[in-house]
Amino acid sequence: MAQTPQARANVAAIPTYVPGKPPTPRPGLTTFKLSSNENPYPPLPGVVEAALGAAEAMNRYPDMGNSALYAALSDYLDVPVSDLAAATGSVALIYQLFNAFCEPGDEVVYAWRSFEAYPIAATAAAAVSVQVPVRPDGRHDLDAMAAAITDRTRVVIVCTPNNPTGPGVTQSELDAFLARVPSHVLVVVDEAYLEFVRMDEAIDGLATYRAHPNVVLTRTFSKAYGLAGFRVGYAVGSPAIAGALRAVSLPFGVSSVAQAAAIASLASADALFERVGALVDERSRVVEGVRAAGWDIPDAQGNFVWFALGERTDEFAAAADELGIVVRPFAGEGARVSIGEDEANDRLIELARTFPR
Ligand SMILES: *Cc1c(COP(=O)(O)O)cnc(C)c1O
Repeated sequence: MAQTPQARANVAAIPTYVPGKPPTPRPGLTTFKLSSNENPYPPLPGVVEAALGAAEAMNRYPDMGNSALYAALSDYLDVPVSDLAAATGSVALIYQLFNAFCEPGDEVVYAWRSFEAYPIAATAAAAVSVQVPVRPDGRHDLDAMAAAITDRTRVVIVCTPNNPTGPGVTQSELDAFLARVPSHVLVVVDEAYLEFVRMDEAIDGLATYRAHPNVVLTRTFSKAYGLAGFRVGYAVGSPAIAGALRAVSLPFGVSSVAQAAAIASLASADALFERVGALVDERSRVVEGVRAAGWDIPDAQGNFVWFALGERTDEFAAAADELGIVVRPFAGEGARVSIGEDEANDRLIELARTFPR
């Protein structure tokens, strides 16, 4: 028998990413997708125009150096360009972090359940995932995470707010944690939902990265900024970390359209954040409505809420589908439901009232 090319052993072990499903079409009923934490608003007019302008030049490669985007981010965040790395979504940055910092067999520590791309990216890099269960209230167990660090640990991820459970870590919790992490271990603070945070003592990511050379922030234009379809995110870290991320990045990864849309979005940040404010108000309405219906759901600091349903998760997802909303079930654990259009949120509250508990 002729030998066939074999992928590395870790490749077969990569878990499959389960994307949020589109809603089942229901004649006579508007259906809503609440399964991917997308922003329900269309882009602001300046953003569409910038993207269309960039699309006119699609015969040209994008600016590989992302120079205009870095300049805009540098200005907006007040950080040097040397400390920035852009990529095709912050998911790409997480892949790049593992590839740049882990030898095969090195350990990465993160909370679980958390963002489903972490185990995929870790396995793809031939790293070993060390998953530390979140507390029953959906919070990171930072004590247990610090205790899980070994000689093999290269990277620790703090996802705040945590997808899919919802709570964020506080600055004092993060500071106490960082004091326990050895300085050669990279701490990734995944701030994908930063703009939705309204908690007391929320972390200041930029101040934290400035104070800790082993901290890198990952952020995205996919959620609050509503550019999920264009694929653009960025990291903020020391020049050594950001440089390593840029070194392992896919050449010409971030398209011209994505770069232009991101720059225009930063210029329209005030208008975008009005919409984010409206989503936060809707989140409060949903959390209150769901709790009033008798559910004990965790604090929600992202654009989603979490129902810890255990074995009843699939039943809940099916009941949601009947009402024309599609949620993101994690079989045997729970369902994450994005904050969407007002009517979609109404239906979620209705589901919380009618689903037998
Ligand atoms: C959505 C999400 C991301 C990244 O999304 P991109 O679209 O790849 O930028 C990263 N981390 C968490 C926790 C997320 O939920």
